Amino acid sequence: MDSKHEGNAAVVVNGVATDLDGMGLNDGLASKKDVPLVGVIGAGVAGLRAAQYLLEKGYNVAVFEARDRVGGRVFTSNHLGKDVDMGPNWIHGTSGNPIVPLSELANSSLHCFEESCPVFDPDGNLLPQSETDRLQEALWKVVEQATEYSKEHKATIPAHESLYDYGVLKAEEMFGPSLPETNNSGTTSDDGDSATPKAGGTGRIRWKGQEQRKELFLSMLHMWGSLTGTSVMRQSLKYFLLEEPVEGPNLFVGSTYKPMVDILAAPSRKAGVINLSTPITSITVTNSEQRRILLTSPTSTYSMDAVIVTIPLGCLKKAAISFNPPLPTRMQQSIQSLSYGNLEKVYIHFPKAYWLTSNKAPGFFTFLTPKYAPETNPNKWHMCCFSLAHFAAPYDQPTLLFYVFGPSSAHLTSSAFTSPQTEEGLKQYTEFFEPYFSRLGGYEAESPDCKPSHIIATNWSNDEYAGFGSYSNFQVGLEDGERDIEIFREGLPERNIWFAGEHTAPVLGLGSVSGAYWSGEDAAAKVVESYGGAAQHTEGISLAEVCATGSSQMTVGGACA
Ligand SMILES: Cc1cc2nc3c(=O)[nH]c(=O)nc-3n(C[C@H](O)[C@H](O)[C@H](O)COP(=O)(O)OP(=O)(O)OC[C@H]3O[C@@H](n4cnc5c(N)ncnc54)[C@H](O)[C@@H]3O)c2cc1C
Repeated sequence: MDSKHEGNAAVVVNGVATDLDGMGLNDGLASKKDVPLVGVIGAGVAGLRAAQYLLEKGYNVAVFEARDRVGGRVFTSNHLGKDVDMGPNWIHGTSGNPIVPLSELANSSLHCFEESCPVFDPDGNLLPQSETDRLQEALWKVVEQATEYSKEHKATIPAHESLYDYGVLKAEEMFGPSLPETNNSGTTSDDGDSATPKAGGTGRIRWKGQEQRKELFLSMLHMWGSLTGTSVMRQSLKYFLLEEPVEGPNLFVGSTYKPMVDILAAPSRKAGVINLSTPITSITVTNSEQRRILLTSPTSTYSMDAVIVTIPLGCLKKAAISFNPPLPTRMQQSIQSLSYGNLEKVYIHFPKAYWLTSNKAPGFFTFLTPKYAPETNPNKWHMCCFSLAHFAAPYDQPTLLFYVFGPSSAHLTSSAFTSPQTEEGLKQYTEFFEPYFSRLGGYEAESPDCKPSHIIATNWSNDEYAGFGSYSNFQVGLEDGERDIEIFREGLPERNIWFAGEHTAPVLGLGSVSGAYWSGEDAAAKVVESYGGAAQHTEGISLAEVCATGSSQMTVGGACA
């Protein structure tokens, strides 16, 4: 390999002169000649945390980001007039979650929605709340049982079994097996709950009540897809343990993730090491003794001592970066075996939050197997939405947030739909979602307050730098899921190449912001360890210093205990 290294100020690689200052490396860093230079590919949460850690340890860092902004899948839009997150909204669990102290530094306003939510049945009628609460309780119990079952029996559970299969068995235990229409024997007795939707009477009719409950329970189980981005029928039971969340409440970040990303990005911005609009297309390991890893972008080649690759699993699946030599076969298997979900979000903004009919009005709603939208939703895809009007001021807004997943997200991101930011798209999206938002209390068809004024929708499924999807998940067919992830975490130490990102996180953080943070920190710590510890000239800045410049208070506004 014909490569020449001329100190840190300029590197000539295959005849291409690369000025490190031009790469964004400042003079201070460029003068640290003996300090390793670590390339971080991707400026999402994992990459920013890795860069922050390395800078704190005194390492030279160059971050390469394909987009013209940092944050990756954390992205905030103000198209509706107020900020909304197009990627993550939630802090999933609080126990030991590093995003909680980060949210404190950012003075975030966090909202805890009531657990009990209204559910509309397939005919669009509101289910009695006591029935809904009971079914939801049963649902979460089954999810917990499935996690334990998966932990205990993962070696023997067939890879094709899904969480839905498990749910069907549990539903039969709870509500009795399905019976042929003509057979009255084996009738399960109803428990006489007056709130149960049933036709009344005894025997066959009472059994029908249980059958209806079972159907509703299984419909509710489909809402699991709004957490993973894929149908519950594709959720691996064998590796359901990998979906276990951090303990504690789920908190909605009303003030958005943006201030948190700014805090994470601050050290890299201060050091001037972020290279935006610089997609890396190949990583080549040479025989050179120093700076032996070459990163290629469409315009330049950069040489590094070590590299942390944080691009999404979906990008790895599409071979967005070519590795020379190729990745080991086992790692390629991991890339193929792990799955990627498709969760999309649609924010519908109204002149007024008409659904706030009282100060006890519910904050989120579920629409099960809707039969009442045959024109726009003939497949009866389930829907759910959250009210942003419930947030503490000044973050409250008359907006409903719908989550769509799997085939419904494929539909909304297909060429059949125009951007809702156009007049035609606004009309199309309004028609699609009207059957649901029109069912909320306070809706009046003729009232201008009930007509969407702006809509914004995500399009992660068509975003090449998000890997054409939302985040990793664990689908049926997965044979060796835990090992697949470990392979990423181990990285390729012999090549000085490491991997980070939500798909490489410890089990409790997979697919989440917390996991991305942990993984970036972990990969950076491995790099530092591989060089024997912190570099001599430590001039990075700590989170606390960032806080002093980025935010003045350290309270979590509106957090629930
Ligand atoms: C719709 C949606 C909802 C979500 N909801 C939640 C939630 O409520 N709570 C939660 O905890 N998590 C949620 N997540 C998941 C969370 O957003 C991710 O787990 C996390 O942000 C991933 O961070 P990352 O650094 O691993 O990846 P990314 O943020 O994707 O960062 C990777 C970076 O690499 C860049 N890149 C890609 N290819 C290249 C290349 N060739 N060269 C250079 N750069 C490249 C990308 O542009 C990107 O900036 C959600 C995600 C989505 C999409």
